Amino acid sequence: MNLKQKILDYAAKNDIELVGFGSKERWDGVDAQHNPFAIFPEGKTVVLVGKRICRGSLRGVEEGTNFGDYGTYGISWLEDAFLSTACYDLTRVIENEGWEACPIFNNPTEIKPQGVAVAEGRPAPNVYPDFRYAAIACGLAEISYNDMVFTKKYGSRQRFQMIITDAEIEPDPILTESICDMCGKCADVCPLNAISKTEYETLTVCGKEMKIAKINYAACKSCPNGARGNRLSAAARPDRIAALCNRTCMCHLEENELIENVFENKFRNRKTWAKDGSGRNVEVKD
Ligand code: SF4
Ligand code: SF4
Repeated sequence: MNLKQKILDYAAKNDIELVGFGSKERWDGVDAQHNPFAIFPEGKTVVLVGKRICRGSLRGVEEGTNFGDYGTYGISWLEDAFLSTACYDLTRVIENEGWEACPIFNNPTEIKPQGVAVAEGRPAPNVYPDFRYAAIACGLAEISYNDMVFTKKYGSRQRFQMIITDAEIEPDPILTESICDMCGKCADVCPLNAISKTEYETLTVCGKEMKIAKINYAACKSCPNGARGNRLSAAARPDRIAALCNRTCMCHLEENELIENVFENKFRNRKTWAKDGSGRNVEVKD
């Protein structure tokens, strides 16, 4: 059995829900400070490993009654325990076959290097690979209009870690279909008008073009509708997965079956709560 199949079989048996493969040439032209192959120059393949954020971890935020459990089950425990364990277990599967497997945690790219280059021509430590780029380059994802990583299985509900290996593994095709249908509901619902419906940039990664709205991240950083600061760096973009804009998008993706992970019951069952920038309750178009 080839290595790719072994990895996929292990992942399927062990509830590792997302695995994608990207070959080194897909990172040609990516700056060394955010390039996984600056960490492992003899590497040939990035294996991206993901686990879902369970929908229920967002329930308390949707109802406005519990904001803490998303922080643990949706962020810190998911990244630091469940996903790290899954990623580490897969490194062992790969190393058991005689290939080096270098596990990489998903740090925000906004973190500046903390050290100085050890020699001329090498980037300063630490190099933090760009996981948004990797999710596209490994064939798993796109960046949506609301500037989130979307997969076909879960939309925005997942987190990733990475393995760089010197094994040459057949890359997965880049996702050609679009998951985000440009409905504009994320922009319509935002009480702080932080997402523009008319201004956007076009991002191209590995030949895939995506339209991304101009977003007022300064507003998002103080948004009282479920957004939270990045736990690893105050300089990084806030976590908007539980924010009103993205919870509204989740409803749209599920109701229109634009993603695979759909449920018996709707996520939103009553008029949503919403607050403006001063914390006052407001009506929004949900
Ligand atoms: S709400 Fe609509 S436009 Fe906004 S990200 Fe979701 S699918 Fe795309
Ligand atoms: S995080 Fe808040 S302010 Fe930013 S787009 Fe979403 S709802 Fe609007």
